[in-house]
Amino acid sequence: MSNSNRRNFLKAIGGVSVASVMGLGSSRAGAAVKAKVVIVGGGYGGAIAARYLKMAEPGLEVVLIEKNKQYVSCPLSNTVLAGFGKLEDLTFGYDGLARHGVTVVHDTVESIDPQARKVKIGGGKTFDYDRAIVAPGVDFKWGAVKGYDEATSLTIPHAWKAGPQTTLLANQLKSMKDGGVVIITVPDNPFRCPPGPYERAALVAHYLKQHKPRSKIIILDAKDKFSKQGLFTQGWKQTYGDMIEWVAAAKGGEIDAIDAATRTAISVVGTKYQADVLNVIPPQHAGQIAHTAGLVNPKGWCPNNPVTFESTLQKNIYVIGDASVGGAMPKSGYGANTQGKVAAAAIIASLRGVEPDESAYLNTCYSLIAPDYGISVAGIYQVKDGQLIEVPGSGGVSPMDASAAYRKVEAAHAHSWLRNITAEMFG
Ligand SMILES: Cc1cc2nc3c(=O)[nH]c(=O)nc-3n(C[C@H](O)[C@H](O)[C@H](O)COP(=O)(O)OP(=O)(O)OC[C@H]3O[C@@H](n4cnc5c(N)ncnc54)[C@H](O)[C@@H]3O)c2cc1C
Repeated sequence: MSNSNRRNFLKAIGGVSVASVMGLGSSRAGAAVKAKVVIVGGGYGGAIAARYLKMAEPGLEVVLIEKNKQYVSCPLSNTVLAGFGKLEDLTFGYDGLARHGVTVVHDTVESIDPQARKVKIGGGKTFDYDRAIVAPGVDFKWGAVKGYDEATSLTIPHAWKAGPQTTLLANQLKSMKDGGVVIITVPDNPFRCPPGPYERAALVAHYLKQHKPRSKIIILDAKDKFSKQGLFTQGWKQTYGDMIEWVAAAKGGEIDAIDAATRTAISVVGTKYQADVLNVIPPQHAGQIAHTAGLVNPKGWCPNNPVTFESTLQKNIYVIGDASVGGAMPKSGYGANTQGKVAAAAIIASLRGVEPDESAYLNTCYSLIAPDYGISVAGIYQVKDGQLIEVPGSGGVSPMDASAAYRKVEAAHAHSWLRNITAEMFG
């Protein structure tokens, strides 16, 4: 296999492995690049991009600006609601990135000036850049569900950014009476982690089955179908009987408003659903800084060149992860990881004045239905006619009717996936 083919193959199977970014260093050797890259946001996308830039080009000055001192992983945070996961095990610091030579700054980026190539943080300090990566994740469209804003989320949790919100929801479940009703409201696409709400329903059911078995979970959905639907529906039934009820948009599941005082969700057709615990997953858009920096389209997501993830609206800024439009890719941590690696390689190519390699992206999303019951969806994505599409036949979902042993292995894979990906980011 030629070097170039091998590089492309490795990308396709590994979601752009170390070899491909490092391969860029050897196969396109030239003078070491001296330049400055500023990264906004140290989550699944930004952290890995920082690490890969530094690995591929140790001479690069890489500055990562992240508002929080610790990162709490959303993946597997539903296990905290189930009662068998701990937030401490999902919490990571940035010392590892600093050890790899990344300059980590903990502050909030307030503005980006794409013309002057400057990033300004809260304290007023500015950072110059040759290339910037913007990876702020999502923010919520407060008010899109009437009656639901940031203040309301302090009593009616979304738990769609892991941390105190996860704890709040877990505590409300603990305080709920047996026989209570838990309502989870789900927005229309696109939103962070398409299978996440349905995994949440399953893992909340796991907790309730043990502690409050007369309780019920209602999912009010703004959609008529959802990720891994057959597998979830089968898993819910096998494991929890009739505890979980899913109400599709066509059956009036889409909500218009909530009444926080009575924990009531009001659907667009006027039906009122009163909850003992109400979990509102609000509609989302790119993180606020992407809006401030002029990186978003009218729908609130960041369009970019799918080969490099450079913004089509602002030159020299690469937007990766949930904030980007992302084509056919779901908004996932794994997706953000592969996009971070592609953007790192593309930045190095552009600093060297060479064409970027052909890119390919990988995604696998595991979901847990119970501690020993895992399912997954996987896909490889490539650029075709300027669009990021899923390569036909490249992935798929776990088989229906699989054995308990099969589901157990997939559950173990979910945990090892998290260990590996976070070690790569923060180790
Ligand atoms: C319940 C749940 C379960 C999930 N499960 C999975 C799963 O099993 N597998 C999977 O692949 N994905 C999963 N996801 C999705 C995954 O969490 C996201 O897709 C992923 O975090 C996106 O990475 P990102 O880098 O774009 O954003 P994030 O990881 O959110 O990182 C963005 C970072 O930017 C920082 N930031 C934002 N604005 C600024 C600013 N102005 N200045 C400084 N810093 C800033 C934030 O503090 C944050 O640390 C799940 C999500 C949820 C909610």
